[in-house]
Amino acid sequence: MLAEVISGKDMAVSIREEVKQRVAGLKESGLTPGLAVVLLGEDPASQVYVNSKNKAATETSIYSRQITLPEDTSEAELLGVVSGLNADAEIHGVLVQLPLPDQIDEGNVLLAIDPAKDVDGFHPINVGRLATGDPDAPAPCTPSGVIQMLLRSGNDPVGKHAVVVGRSNIVGRPMAALLLRKAPGGNATVTVAHSRTPDLGVVTSEADILIVAIGQPDLIRGDMVKPGAVVIDVGVNRVDDDTRERGYRLTGDVAFDEVKEVASAISPVPGGVGPMTIAMLLSNTVEAAVRFAAAEG
Ligand code: NDP
Repeated sequence: MLAEVISGKDMAVSIREEVKQRVAGLKESGLTPGLAVVLLGEDPASQVYVNSKNKAATETSIYSRQITLPEDTSEAELLGVVSGLNADAEIHGVLVQLPLPDQIDEGNVLLAIDPAKDVDGFHPINVGRLATGDPDAPAPCTPSGVIQMLLRSGNDPVGKHAVVVGRSNIVGRPMAALLLRKAPGGNATVTVAHSRTPDLGVVTSEADILIVAIGQPDLIRGDMVKPGAVVIDVGVNRVDDDTRERGYRLTGDVAFDEVKEVASAISPVPGGVGPMTIAMLLSNTVEAAVRFAAAEG
């Protein structure tokens, strides 16, 4: 069997086009969705993420505001900025780029963001809403992107056994909650595995849908996958590669060349889940703006 490749890159282009058309329609009725991204310090990786989020927002005509604060900003100062954005009628989505410097308690910052503007879905109220199955809860962008990849590739999780490897708050746990939810893209039977799971291959071999988010290159091998399974690789790992000018290449958590011989569909890295994450951020921002307008009456 040679698996179909699920291109998140292509799907993200379609979602961004859909967002652009929705924004155009909203603008005609006088509503411009607005996204604020707050960055502390000059961490190059965070700068790249923030720039691409702003660029993607601008391309879809979402009003985008980037706020860059010094590395030594105090927690009180950052909370003040968040509070200003919460009160700002031009802004419907607020995102504070993580990780934050040591002097700032990440939990306090996530708690300070207005849950209605929490386009990352990390506020404990939204985490709780998702965990209790609320079909309207704003959900974190990466696992939301995975659900879209499954639905748009014709692999609806309903009634399937989905195995999620990884239990982080940003990927594994919300992924499992979305798959379990009684809502489109949900209704799967869900197993979550992690570093303390013995015989990982026995668990992953039972999956109709296997979603891997661990951060270890090529950990999932061909003999750990059920023939015909759908495999989504969330992992992004840098591995040394002297043949590349930059000295490294990006690879996923799944041994792509082996698993594509066994699976019926597989997402690549790069060009898989990564581009979907930003597309879902734009989509979440539009949803937040629409809810805001509905609440305003
Ligand atoms: P974390 O490090 O927070 O979590 C990793 C999870 O994997 C943990 O639950 C850990 O278990 C589990 N794990 C680690 N090693 C093993 C193992 N050998 N067997 C089974 N489980 C294992 O990572 P994240 O969830 O933040 O990210 C995971 C990957 O996804 C990374 O490569 C990251 O770069 C990528 N990522 C990609 C995104 C995208 O947009 N494409 C967005 C976010 C992340 P335990 O809990 O027991 O420690």
